[in-house]
Amino acid sequence: MGMAVVADLRSDTVTRPTPAMRQAIAQAEVGDDVLGDDPAVISLQEKVAALLGKEAALFVPSGTMANQIAIRVHTSHGDEVICHKDSHAFYYESGAPAALSGVSSRFLDGARGQFTGADVQSLIRPLNPHFARTRLVIVENTHNRGGGSVWPVEKIADVARVARGAGLALHLDGARLMNACVASNLKPTDYTRYFDTVSLCFSKGLGAPIGSALAGSKELMAQAHRFRKMFGGGMRQAGILAAAAIYALDHHVERLAEDHANAKRLANALAELPHVTIDPAAVETNILFMDIDPAWGTAPQLVQKLKEQGILILAESAHRVRAVTHLDVSTSQIDRAITIIRKLIQR
Ligand SMILES: *Cc1c(COP(=O)(O)O)cnc(C)c1O
Repeated sequence: MGMAVVADLRSDTVTRPTPAMRQAIAQAEVGDDVLGDDPAVISLQEKVAALLGKEAALFVPSGTMANQIAIRVHTSHGDEVICHKDSHAFYYESGAPAALSGVSSRFLDGARGQFTGADVQSLIRPLNPHFARTRLVIVENTHNRGGGSVWPVEKIADVARVARGAGLALHLDGARLMNACVASNLKPTDYTRYFDTVSLCFSKGLGAPIGSALAGSKELMAQAHRFRKMFGGGMRQAGILAAAAIYALDHHVERLAEDHANAKRLANALAELPHVTIDPAAVETNILFMDIDPAWGTAPQLVQKLKEQGILILAESAHRVRAVTHLDVSTSQIDRAITIIRKLIQR
């Protein structure tokens, strides 16, 4: 059957290292990062700390590990975490907060993965021996299941004000923080200054093969370092990977605007079609959700039909699909995809 792939829109994680990134990987100066002397890792960590306006940063294998180490450093067993019900750290990380940190969670349910300070206030437990100790608030920007939505800075400031007032810690899941920055034309520090810890993924739209970082104060990062080892994330000549991440930060940030434009282009075209519901205005970055009319068929049916024609997307639920643009999908590929989808939906 082997149909050539027209566009792989399943996720921005499918990006492969470019020839220039592979060159950077090949030339990486490496050491033993478990012993603390890999020069490329050290330089990446310094670069990320500066970028995010924090004292220190730690290179880790995955965004999941960055988030879970953050939860671990901010909490003790039995504590409670406040986050959105669709937050990646709880929805997509295998139950790790309970498994690795022994915390329970209370969920907020705002539109597009966002919530307010008042929402947070409503879930904070009074200090009383009957209750779990509320300890941490997690914000995700951009919000993945929220449709790649970008948090307005004022909304983050409001959440942070309430959390700080109650003595809670704040973690930013910034897996796609650079997408938020490019879309909003703000600096990373405009967002990160409200948070104790921030995670950032190099292996999503930034196009590196592997790796994420966690940033925060020196003291928190010293604790994080220990949990990275405990969770199995100590890597030796990790400079091979850090070099790719450095290359990504130097060359693949501004181009995220192309991914956002391609997602918008796709959304505008899909909005013209019968049997689909999509709001192009809600497509702020590189993630797009579209609902398919049950009279046409289900999301898995649409995914299968598109796959047969070389377009890969994911079913998000019975009637919702997700498409994600990234550096391995050009505007002309998007246009070919639009032609194919149009024919299929109008059949
Ligand atoms: C991808 C992602 C992560 C990290 O996931 P990994 O699969 O561990 O890389 C964390 N948060 C968000 C919002 C993500 O999209």
